[in-house]
Amino acid sequence: MLFTVTVLGLSATTSFSYSQGNFTGVELSITSVAGNVYMIQRPGGGGNIGVQVGPDGVLLVDSLFAPLTDRLVAALKQVTEEDIRFLINTHIHIDHVGGNENLADMGVLIFAHDNTRLRFFEERSRYPRAGGSYAPQQPVAARPLITFNDTMSFHLNGEEVRAFLAPPAHTDGDSFVYFAGSDVLHLGDVYRTTGYPIVDIYNGGTLRGTIAAIDQAIDLAGPDTKVIPGHGLEVVGRDELVEFRDMILDIQGQVLSMIREGKKLDEVMAAQPTAAYDAQWTDDPGWGPVDFVPIVYYELGGSGRLADR
Ligand SMILES: [Zn+2]
Repeated sequence: MLFTVTVLGLSATTSFSYSQGNFTGVELSITSVAGNVYMIQRPGGGGNIGVQVGPDGVLLVDSLFAPLTDRLVAALKQVTEEDIRFLINTHIHIDHVGGNENLADMGVLIFAHDNTRLRFFEERSRYPRAGGSYAPQQPVAARPLITFNDTMSFHLNGEEVRAFLAPPAHTDGDSFVYFAGSDVLHLGDVYRTTGYPIVDIYNGGTLRGTIAAIDQAIDLAGPDTKVIPGHGLEVVGRDELVEFRDMILDIQGQVLSMIREGKKLDEVMAAQPTAAYDAQWTDDPGWGPVDFVPIVYYELGGSGRLADR
């Protein structure tokens, strides 16, 4: 079963933004993924929310931006009357934790990995777009109340919901969430359908961890597993993860060869190691080869230092 319900049919949809920005007219939709699991999305597919629904109550994965909480709750009401009980944050970024305070006010218990909670204490939160933009520190009430250091399971709505730390990929607190009975995997921003992987070096992300994390997801996924990306409008499967991993490995291999030939970053950029992929992987205007390739270059030992733009 696949259906979409539009909530708040206001004016035309706005373009996707990572800033706190203007949310006027932003419509959220809720879509069935598999079993007990749904996905709430915004136009452009930013900060996809995983939703588990059943008689024991609602569990959410990520909370979007604060101004969208009412619309999030309204979308949820399209499929359940049960209360929201639990929220798992996949990582620290504002488009995934911005609704935390509002949900905490509603009595929702917030869970995250230890490393993600630590990031809530930073004076301001840096994120990788535009060379490192900042979001203000989240309020105290937004902080996860319960943290885990490896893995944690909920036993809810007739299935196990397992949250576990992925290798340091997008950040150093990335959690994957697997809904075992529904066979749905939420990968947070480690996997997106919209562009090259965002390795957030300001929050502990690494290229090596990205590859390891995607490998872990590929190992976990079966032939029927549905994968919710952190960003992007489609639910995908194991094959798309393999394609994503292979794309990263190919780019990594090209850049490494050029480093071994003594090439500088500008020469590597000029050689366009992502050329074969740019048509498919640059839907995201805030994150393209100019952002991704230098991270690959420097992590692989290219000479010089990553400019702090
Ligand atoms: Zn993110």
